[in-house]
Amino acid sequence: MTAIHLDAVRKSFGTFDVIKGVDLEIDPGEFMVFVGPSGCGKSTLLRLISGLEDITSGTLAFDDKIVNSLTPSQRGIAMVFQSYALYPHMTVFDNMAFGLKLAKGDAGEIKRRVHKAAEMLQIGAYLDRLPKQLSGGQRQRVAIGRAIVRDPKVFLFDEPLSNLDAALRVQTRLEIAKLHASMHETTMIYVTHDQVEAMTLADRICVLRDGIVEQVGTPLELYENPQSIFVAGFIGSPKMNFLTDKYAQTYGAHTLGVRPEHLQISQKDGTWDGKLILAENLGSDTYLYIDIGAKDPLVVRQDGTARQQPGERLFISPINNNIHRFDQSGRPAAHS
Ligand code: ATP
Repeated sequence: MTAIHLDAVRKSFGTFDVIKGVDLEIDPGEFMVFVGPSGCGKSTLLRLISGLEDITSGTLAFDDKIVNSLTPSQRGIAMVFQSYALYPHMTVFDNMAFGLKLAKGDAGEIKRRVHKAAEMLQIGAYLDRLPKQLSGGQRQRVAIGRAIVRDPKVFLFDEPLSNLDAALRVQTRLEIAKLHASMHETTMIYVTHDQVEAMTLADRICVLRDGIVEQVGTPLELYENPQSIFVAGFIGSPKMNFLTDKYAQTYGAHTLGVRPEHLQISQKDGTWDGKLILAENLGSDTYLYIDIGAKDPLVVRQDGTARQQPGERLFISPINNNIHRFDQSGRPAAHS
């Protein structure tokens, strides 16, 4: 099992600083997910760990060994990208076996490993097919299988599901979760901008913002105790509501954050009152958008199909005082 240590890691492309000093400890066998807005440096950080990009300064160590100048293959990593990059003229078996054949592995052992990986990913029936005879999800599983057979110490994923449609994303996400459970010796790092993937797959999530680490924690730690407005707004869907001015001052905060699922409505009384401007019925949930006079409408999540009509007057209150108070710097406000 491999622990990964990043110490003051920086990356510049010419004069453009992309990674601006990252310190991060990834535990052996951990599933770490990098999230953050587009362009914050997630893929670059992953590529620095993989060895596909050179580190400008700082150190990267796998266990006790500094690997800054090692090639990807010397680091013992395998990587799965958004584009599957399979060889179109080779069968699934040959695609999966290619790296091992190149390394002059024993034919029997190659066959055993390919079959084992194919079974794990439920693509055993397709080993004789060409990539063009597979669906997108199956192709991505071949790409994952190709990485598994190499028995990597560290497994890196760069948005592997983003080319798949919604149903396949869910299915392949489950495959990756199962994979992690069965490969608990392998340290995994996964880049995504998808909330659900991050929350469901990660042991811990690292939120990046503009080339620095904003917060690292388990999915629930980030959800329950965001250490900045940025993380509070980034983790959770629909997004946390933010209120300022008199709405926040009542609570001794510069900004008050309340998640849509932590608000309840009443026809009679409540903390705030406003007019319903829109009700989005999704079947399982309804999102109510209520104008309480603040800058943005409050979003309230209700179970099932809400019966309220636009124009209706509603009262809204936080459930069990489930609120987040932030100071002017966007950090949690000290308790008054
Ligand atoms: P996304 O979610 O959109 O994929 P990201 O967080 O993965 O974004 P990166 O791909 O790491 O972001 O890019 C971070 C920044 O570095 C971007 O502004 C990008 O344009 C820049 N960048 C990435 N690679 C290079 C390169 N080879 N040369 C110059 N700039 C680069």
